[in-house]
Amino acid sequence: MSKYDVAVIGSGPGGYVAAIRCAQLGMKTAIIEKYNTLGGTCLNVGCIPSKALLDSSHHYEETVKHFEDHGIELPGDVKINFKKMIDRKASVVEQTTKGIDFLMNKNKIDVFTGVGSFKDETHIVISSDDGDKTIEAKNTIIATGSKPATLPFIELDKERIITSTEALVLKEIPKHMVVIGGGVIGLELGQVYRRLGAEVSVVEYMDRIIPTMDKAQSKELTKVMKKQGVKFYVSHKVSAVERKKDEVTITATDKKDKEVTFTGDYCLVSVGRRPYTDGLKAENAGVKVNEKGQIEVNEHLQTNVKNIYAIGDVVKGAMLAHKASEEGTLVAEQLADQKPHINYNLIPSVVYTWPEVASVGKTEEQLKEDKVEYKSGQFPMRALGRSRASGDTDGFIKILADKETDEVLGVHMVGARAADLIAEAVTAMEYRASAEDIARMSHAHPTYAEAVKEAALAATENRPIHT
Ligand code: FAD
Ligand code: NAD
Repeated sequence: MSKYDVAVIGSGPGGYVAAIRCAQLGMKTAIIEKYNTLGGTCLNVGCIPSKALLDSSHHYEETVKHFEDHGIELPGDVKINFKKMIDRKASVVEQTTKGIDFLMNKNKIDVFTGVGSFKDETHIVISSDDGDKTIEAKNTIIATGSKPATLPFIELDKERIITSTEALVLKEIPKHMVVIGGGVIGLELGQVYRRLGAEVSVVEYMDRIIPTMDKAQSKELTKVMKKQGVKFYVSHKVSAVERKKDEVTITATDKKDKEVTFTGDYCLVSVGRRPYTDGLKAENAGVKVNEKGQIEVNEHLQTNVKNIYAIGDVVKGAMLAHKASEEGTLVAEQLADQKPHINYNLIPSVVYTWPEVASVGKTEEQLKEDKVEYKSGQFPMRALGRSRASGDTDGFIKILADKETDEVLGVHMVGARAADLIAEAVTAMEYRASAEDIARMSHAHPTYAEAVKEAALAATENRPIHT
């Protein structure tokens, strides 16, 4: 029987990063993945394919709607080759997952294909079509991720009533896609299909889309996406989803308790994801799973069984790839007797619509709830020369700083390249910068990043230059 210092179950951004870091630190490492390709949700059916389709559909929208403004005339009608778009996405995924094979090889990590399940605290059985194999591991890291959640009355047929996984491999552009859930997936994939010509209706239970982000971001993104033709139905509680042939009818009640129906050819269910532990047989090792289905961990990401750890979507916290990776690194470094830490307040969130939406730290609503006295500085993207040059004038950057100390407490953005701009805010906050610190740093001109400086100027002394 092969023996390892560490076995990692699951090869998503949590698992594969944990495995690489363990190997870098000199541990004999195995990784177990039930699918034939490595990379987990993120690389196969999540971050990477969704961004590939967002990029392709963005190019199409730019061509059709904005080329003319730039003085670019096309010889004829612009057509979508949807199959090619989906094939390109598949090839981006393939290149990316092959990259993980390369990294496993480079770091001398043994890869096992099959479902990993606990036999006991130190033995893992790997089951595949080739039969069962057992390995022994001093330590195990559970990184089994998550799967799409649904509502109890919805029968996902995966043809017309679908989750993000199917929405990434459709064979046709929907005529009318009804999206249940105005969170990250609903808005990203809703925008993809809206750009490609589908009618898109988003039905959201809360009173605003992206309800966990700053209210100002919800408002701005709603405004922009409405301009793009997406219809929003907030404060709507879905009660039934039925399919008849190629038609799906969604029934909901609005805020006034009035019944409303939506009929489309596709219904995307994007109401969150659930932690995934099916087939893991955690009970054989005595590992506790809580009522939400998450593996219970302490601040060291250690389960109730001392040589077994869990990271990523299968434990509490934001279901984000970079959060999973940070946790993978943390566990590996702890196993090597280092003292790493993660500041969960500084894990940024991004919605990759266009304009992009990005946040780090506390929202205004959280600061109010926590009774923290704060100052707010906001700068509109439309006031930037760079934004006017590219035509990306929607959005703003808002910096929230402590009223007394000026320390930056939260940064919230909507705008072109916000996903990249948020890194400046994370850096500043990691070093506990004040708004004035950011305001005094030189930002290249003309860039979208100048809006960060201007928002900081507005927050620190209410003296932005360009508004
Ligand atoms: P996963 O990536 O889910 O990986 C878990 C792996 O474990 C899977 O490969 C699974 O097959 C395997 N596994 C499970 N059980 C077993 C077992 N018993 N034996 C062997 N293998 C097993 N996050 C971002 O940060 N940015 C984004 O832009 C983004 N976009 C997304 C878009 C979509 C459409 C979706 C669905 C998600 C997106 N996410 C994004 C979320 C991100 O994908 C997850 O947060 C991330 O993948 C979690 O990583 P993980 O390693 O915890 O788990
Ligand atoms: P989400 O939690 O972002 O959004 C779900 C939305 O559905 C919420 O707005 C919620 O209020 C709403 N909702 C819940 N029940 C409902 C109901 N009965 N009727 C109507 N609306 C309802 O979840 P998601 O969009 O499914 O994404 C799942 C996870 O994947 C998220 O945790 C997210 O972090 C991750 N993800 C991240 C990215 C990214 O980082 N860009 C992209 C995609 C997914």
